[in-house]
Amino acid sequence: MHIQKPRSFCSRNPKSNVGLLSSPGGDRISNLVFADDCHIFARATTIQHKTTLGRYLGIHNIIFWKDPANANLLIERIRSKFAGWKANTLSKAGRLTLIKASVSGIPNHTISCFKFPKEVCKELNVCCRRFFWGNDKKVPPVSWKDVCLPKHLGGLGVRSATLFNKAALAKLEKRDSQSFSWKAILDAPSVLLKGCRWIVGNGQSIPFWTANWVFPFPLLDLIPEFLRHNLNLNARVANFIQNQAWQRDKLLQVIDEDILDQILSIPLPLSPLHDKLVWGPNPNGKFSIKSAYNLQLQDEPSHPRTPLLKKMWNLNLPPKVKLFAWLRIRKRLQVQSHLYKYIPNINPECPLCKNHLETINHLFFECQFAVNIWRCTSINPMTTYQNFDGIKWLDLLPHMMDK
Ligand SMILES: [Zn+2]
Repeated sequence: MHIQKPRSFCSRNPKSNVGLLSSPGGDRISNLVFADDCHIFARATTIQHKTTLGRYLGIHNIIFWKDPANANLLIERIRSKFAGWKANTLSKAGRLTLIKASVSGIPNHTISCFKFPKEVCKELNVCCRRFFWGNDKKVPPVSWKDVCLPKHLGGLGVRSATLFNKAALAKLEKRDSQSFSWKAILDAPSVLLKGCRWIVGNGQSIPFWTANWVFPFPLLDLIPEFLRHNLNLNARVANFIQNQAWQRDKLLQVIDEDILDQILSIPLPLSPLHDKLVWGPNPNGKFSIKSAYNLQLQDEPSHPRTPLLKKMWNLNLPPKVKLFAWLRIRKRLQVQSHLYKYIPNINPECPLCKNHLETINHLFFECQFAVNIWRCTSINPMTTYQNFDGIKWLDLLPHMMDK
């Protein structure tokens, strides 16, 4: 939009009754024009969005996603960012740092405001994965999902675009819902439903079976599917409270004794108060994107060697050595015998002794080269045991050294 005079940053529209009122009884402003942006004030009827409104200070409009060309634009932007970095000249640790610091941050403002289409999240993950492992790796040693797990579950702590997007949207959803006394939560994303806990006041707002008020999950989850048709799903917690005391006998008609004990241990206020909805994962009851993100991971199984991985991450070692050790402990180092399964024209032999298959155990413990190195140390791996497992041995190593 061409602007001739500074005054025309605001278009006044004194006669119309449409627009933003500049002051009581003053002119109505029908539009505001910024550097590359234009706000138009109008009366809303039914609006059909057909084109993109572009972006304001880099923030993509919700309409942005309605046009697939725009999703492609973001994907292209992510791709070109990666193309600018020469993956081959960087160690894996260096690539990981770049992915964590820059790539997760590319769509930061967008990812916190708008629901990402699945294909954008997927493409973002594919770009990161290829950059990290190298384009030539058809079968990455560790799945990208596992790489995105936090370190305490055996991953590398890369932020998952999909999970972060959900956590950030839960924050928006919560903010919007505050003015509706959390009513909107009933329609909120599953992460929000999962994290909310009721503090019982008078029990009138709390659905007995479907809300999180006794456990971090609804009581309904404890009832086998075939028994659920007998339940009154409209029952409120208030139905089981009389004179601010739990109605033990009434409760026993619908739940088992072990659950009853849990309910009886929930304190009731001396006089009836409103029920309160809080955010469970944070001890202070306040919502944070970080806790919403972690909540989505809490049911993920951790890698069986997580304790050993934790010890390793705490060591004072160069990052590239740690990353190598991470693969080693997960038994995902791509030794020759492993690669041979996928690339038949590769020589599966150990390139050091040229006498055995190069397995992980061979490389670290059995190969004459490795044996000679171990001899220079005060510790001696008992590789002569049958089924010697190098990782198990490493895990026990600190105990052995304590003795
Ligand atoms: Zn060898």
